[in-house]
Amino acid sequence: MIVGLEEIGQRASTGALPGWDQVDVLVDDAYRFALRGTGGAVADYIPALAQADPDLFGVAVAQVDGGLHAVGDVDVAFSIQSISKAFVYALVCQNFGHEQVMARIGVNNTGLAFDSVIAIELNDGHPMNPMVNAGAIAATALMPGSTPGERWEAIQTGLSAFAGRALALDDEVYRSETATNQRNRAIARLLESYRRIDTDPLDAVDVYTRQCSLLVTAKDLAVMAATLADGGVNPVTGRRVVSATVCRDTLAVLATSGLYERSGEWLFDIGLPGKSGVAGGIMAVSPGKAGIGTYAPRLDPAGNSVRGQLATAHLSRALGLNIFASDAAVSPGG
Ligand code: GLN
Repeated sequence: MIVGLEEIGQRASTGALPGWDQVDVLVDDAYRFALRGTGGAVADYIPALAQADPDLFGVAVAQVDGGLHAVGDVDVAFSIQSISKAFVYALVCQNFGHEQVMARIGVNNTGLAFDSVIAIELNDGHPMNPMVNAGAIAATALMPGSTPGERWEAIQTGLSAFAGRALALDDEVYRSETATNQRNRAIARLLESYRRIDTDPLDAVDVYTRQCSLLVTAKDLAVMAATLADGGVNPVTGRRVVSATVCRDTLAVLATSGLYERSGEWLFDIGLPGKSGVAGGIMAVSPGKAGIGTYAPRLDPAGNSVRGQLATAHLSRALGLNIFASDAAVSPGG
């Protein structure tokens, strides 16, 4: 549970964002509120990630009208990690459609850690959802392309379209994870044994590791999230990236599984589809209104950024983004 949330007034999610100046002030408030999160630790199971400055912190909000609010270290680049899963899933849905992807990958929470092998075994080899590593590697394998190189190119181009600029690979993070990702290779082999993956499993892990190593900033995450909030059109470039239906499907999956085994708590506190990554990024999507991107490398035990959760929780309340928060249409006696 997030301590101190009750002191932030909950605005209903019906209606529009507050005016520009007020959003600016509230993004600042959220940044300062989140500074109270001094706990957590930088991820070190991928050795290159351990070098991050633990005190970096940035918060960005991209409105669906193209406006951007940003405070703190919003231009610092870090690897997107698991947040890439949301966008690769969207790209795969765009190619294969709702039913196929639902049947092959699934949309239910595992209740277990993102790299759980037990989750696969408990579910007859089914990857369960695209936000845990098993489902994400299976989704990467489904990307269009006849070679791993073509699939990688489709991912890099697709994620760059979500961000509205060309995203580059962090070669050091990619190499570091490649040298230490035995578990992901095991997951892919296990999927292969259950015939849940059609391409070479180790090729799929390699492309997955590359997609996780794409460099983004908090501002990029806000714009990528805003594209999902804007029916699939990037509000900065004006370019359509995926269909509105694909956005809807992606947000539903993020709501159930975006924060892994903590997805229920996240939805209860924050009430928005969101996705975290182990380098310290979090994005959250307020359909029809805005995208939020945060960066703060210190993580809680489930691998979710401590300050990113606090800042997003504050914004969800103060900006009236929680999709479950309504007001009475007619006040009693009114
Ligand atoms: N690349 C990381 C992994 O597969 C991503 C995990 C994450 O961000 N939760 O382990």
